[in-house]
Parts: sequence; structure tokens; C-alpha cells
Amino acid sequence: MTLQSPAPNTTKTDDAVWASIAREEDRQEQQLELIASENHASEEVMAAMGTALTNKYAEGYPGRRYYGGCEFVDEVEDLARNRARELFGSERANVQPHSGTQANMAAFMSMLDPGDKVLAMSLDHGGHLSHGHTKNFSGVFYDFHSYGVEPDTERLDLDKIREQALALRPKLVIAGASAYSRPIDFAAFADIAREVDALFMVDMAHIAGLVAGGAHASPVPHADVVTLTTHKTLRGPRGGMILCPKERIVKINSALFPGGQGGPLMHVIAAKAIAFREAQQDSFKAYAAQVVANASALADGLVEAGIRIVSGGTDNHVMLVDVGSVGLSGAAAEDALHRVDITCNKNLIPFDERPPMEASGVRLGTAAITTRGLDVTDMGHLAGWIGEILRAPEDEATIKRVAGAVAELTSRRPIYA
Ligand code: PLP
Repeated sequence: MTLQSPAPNTTKTDDAVWASIAREEDRQEQQLELIASENHASEEVMAAMGTALTNKYAEGYPGRRYYGGCEFVDEVEDLARNRARELFGSERANVQPHSGTQANMAAFMSMLDPGDKVLAMSLDHGGHLSHGHTKNFSGVFYDFHSYGVEPDTERLDLDKIREQALALRPKLVIAGASAYSRPIDFAAFADIAREVDALFMVDMAHIAGLVAGGAHASPVPHADVVTLTTHKTLRGPRGGMILCPKERIVKINSALFPGGQGGPLMHVIAAKAIAFREAQQDSFKAYAAQVVANASALADGLVEAGIRIVSGGTDNHVMLVDVGSVGLSGAAAEDALHRVDITCNKNLIPFDERPPMEASGVRLGTAAITTRGLDVTDMGHLAGWIGEILRAPEDEATIKRVAGAVAELTSRRPIYA
């Protein structure tokens, strides 16, 4: 592996921290990362985060800062904003959110008053904590109500959601999820919101890279506000972003700063700018298409291995695997796969009877393994290995053989070659 942290000329004195960093780098190289919300950012993206931009306070926005000496970080933030706008065809962008949750906080603050009604996807069916969980700021300050998938299809039914919206009359309707494997019809959602005089927001954190690469329809033409994270399928640094039409940007900017954050992370904004440029290349379009092709092949392979996939398959980068169908809890399946260096997370499946810390599913995604060059042939092998482990999680001979096969594959397809 050639990735070196810190950069080669840096003097290392803190052995304890650097040793842990080295172990984490090795772990990433040696394990197949199937956590659907993770990816492997490029070395250039990571290098930008280890620069002197981390030293700079820049409260405010380019041209209107509360600190001196911002002329060069202004250049960087302008590059990031302009590239984001071009990439997603959005009139305006705010690239300062430290995370997806903070992007959502600013979006809500720009559109809602405390206590306002919001309709969003249920966390139990694939929604996100920041869409109304009772312990999250969203559930504390706003009156969240949820829609879910249908018991028979395990898909969203827009007619049902419309009925709910008509009965509830929310001020905001939110589309977007953390664990939903089917396309979301943003135009139909927008029609529902307009019919009930609600605003419409899309949280495209998971699918942002697919949208950028043309592998999923864009919500930008339909939504009043779009939020996203930059570190999932978009493959940038850890962070958030907000896109909106020009008439909304003043409120969004002030909801984010000073509303929810202080100084922006300029080193991360530089890394975002680099990632947006990477996502503008044809190679990123090919990447996004490959992520989807790989997910579809992995889901097909698992179904062939007799394992149930929620809703029968996937059209994007993610799938929910019902490991209850082979007699395991999600927690047990996560542990079993970890033993052979396949990393994933337990996840509730819709109408799950197990508690969240046990769950009946695991969520698998192909964004990170596609970055390291795995293709549909590899997906066939991977589905077979997952099937073998889930059917014989304690069988030492199977564990040894599959772990060996994973090690051979990861050494053949290094992340940072
Ligand atoms: N929104 C959705 C749909 C997500 O899946 C996530 C993260 O998993 C977030 C928001 C929050 O992102 P962050 O972890 O950066 O706060």
C-alpha cells in the first residue's frame, strides 16, 4: 500500500496516534467495505484536509467575512460553490455544513418554526435520525409524522403518502432515505407537497453520487431545498451541503451561519471542491453506473443463494438483506461477516420484530467496493461467500476458506495503489 499518513515530509512524534491511523488504513485495505454510507475518497481529497486551511477562521461567506485574511479561502469556497452548482444544475449552493445532519438543521430552520408539522420517511422503514427521531433535534423541535413502505411490496406507495399528506397538511414534506433501494419519484412527491401547500425537501445524502453521475434522477428541479452528504456515493470528504433556488439562499445561509454553526471547515471545503471536480469527469459517470450494476449483481447473487432481499432487489447502491430468512439476527450476521473481513451494518427491515440493536437485516452497499475496482464478476463471488457464511456462521473451515478468498481479492484490488 502506498498511502502514507502523514505526508512523507511530516515529522511524526505522536507514535500512539499514528500507529492507530496506520492500523485503520490497513483495516480499510484488508476489508471489503460494504457499509452503504462509506466510500474511499481519493488521495487528493484527503491531502487537501491535511493542509494549513485547517488553521483559518472564516465565519461568514466569500466577500463577507467576520475575519481578515480570507482572500484565499474565499477562492476555495467560490470554487466549491460554483462546481457544486454546475455538478447538480442548482442555482445556489451552501458548502459549509459540517455534516448531513447540520445541513438538515439549517434547511429546517430556514423553512420551519418550532412545532411545525413535517411528513418524512419512518426511520424503521429506512429514513434517517435527522428526519424526526425523538432524541434528535428534529424530533425535539418539530412535529414529525412518518410514512413508510407497504407491507406487501416493501416500496413507497405515493397514493398512500398523498392521502397522509392530505390528512396531515404538513408545512414540509421530505423525501430521501438511508436504507431504501428503489428509485424515488421526486416529481410525484413535489406534486403532493404542492397540493397540500407544503414545501418540499429532498435529503439525497445516500444517492448524491448517483445523481451527480447520472445514475439516479435528480431532485434538484423539483425540490425547494436539497440536502446531501459529500462522503457517501459522492466520494468526497466527510461533510454536508445544501442546494436551492436563488430565492432561498439568503435564509439558508443565515440558518447555517450563524444559525447552526460557527466557523466553516475550510480544509474540508477545499476537499469538497476537489471531489466535485472529480465527480464532473466522465470516469465518475462510469463509476456511478458501475456502483448500480454491482449492487444489482450482488442482490441477484444473494437471491440465488436463497437469501431474501427487502423488496426483492435494488435499483441503486444499497440493499437490505433479510438475514432472518436464514435464521440469523442482523447483529449475528454483521459479526459473522466481520470474521471474514466483510464489513457491513445491522439494520432494521420494514416491520421488523427485533429491536434495533439486534435487527433482522444487514444493509449492504457497493459504493466503496466499486471504488477499489470490483466488478460484476466479483459480485458473483462475493454473494456466494456471503451466502456460505450466513448459512454456516460457526463453521471454521468455511470461515477460513472465505477469509482467504477475501484476502486474495483485497490484495489484488488495493484502494490506494
Ligand atoms: N441524511 C441521510 C439520508 C443519511 O443517510 C445521513 C447519514 O447517514 C445523514 C442525513 C446524516 O449525515 P451525517 O452523518 O453527516 O450527519
